[in-house]
Amino acid sequence: MSQPGAGGARGRGARFPATLEGLRPAPAVPARRAGAATPGARPAGAVPSAQGVGLDSAAVRQAMVQRLAQQGVTHPAVLQALAAVERHRFVDSALVPQAYEDTALPIGWGQTISKPSVVARMLELLCAGQTLPLGRVLEIGTGCGYQAALLARLAREVYSMERLRALHDKARDNLRPLRIPNLHLILGDGTAGYPAGAPYAGIIAAAGGEAIPQAWLDQLAVGGRLVAPAEVQPGQQRLVVVQRTATGWQREVLEGVRFVPLQSGVL
Ligand code: SAH
Repeated sequence: MSQPGAGGARGRGARFPATLEGLRPAPAVPARRAGAATPGARPAGAVPSAQGVGLDSAAVRQAMVQRLAQQGVTHPAVLQALAAVERHRFVDSALVPQAYEDTALPIGWGQTISKPSVVARMLELLCAGQTLPLGRVLEIGTGCGYQAALLARLAREVYSMERLRALHDKARDNLRPLRIPNLHLILGDGTAGYPAGAPYAGIIAAAGGEAIPQAWLDQLAVGGRLVAPAEVQPGQQRLVVVQRTATGWQREVLEGVRFVPLQSGVL
């Protein structure tokens, strides 16, 4: 196999790209922590909490979406995706109560899931001015799989790469019950992109290096957009948007951000 997963979804033993379909859904209600609030026991008017998720989770998620809309997120498809994907399924059970707060959360192996406002911002930048659904999209840094699940609602096909096998496996476990047929998980070093799926209508990275790798620029379709953190000056990571035109690449450097480093190799 020259590419991780060439021929992937076909063979029984083949794992990459892992197409998340044909598997049994998990119970709708995640295991509740001892002592967590009983769903329905919330006093009228109380702020919905993600504890004892179950029935309450849609309300808590809707509250998160409303806060994001108040903060300026306007793209309807992005808001819809955020309302639909259950973020609490992607974090460890001890962190479920914080799943709908606007905070980054640890996902293990030194990595973090970005806070919802940053995810929303990046998705809006990816979709800006584009017709939805986007065509093929490449995500670098699957992590726990949360953003990949959102992307699968905005694009026809999503290829999501992760270099840490443990997280790739964790994302697959998190995503399996959701049965998302247009999402393909790839274990591999995303700095080289994923030529098998190119050209991409969108490329989005959740890890930042010094520069945007040339492979990403090359794998972007004309008219396609790339959103990634990059160290534009030493010690200064900023969000960078690149749009490919018929004649080259247009780069915009936006606000300062703090993402985990883009690292090479597969572990
Ligand atoms: N979008 C993710 C965020 C994960 S954090 C989520 O929703 O959870 C960023 C991820 O990028 C980490 O899991 C890290 O291991 C991964 N990463 C860093 N460098 C990478 C590379 N070269 N190729 C693929 N993944 C990489």
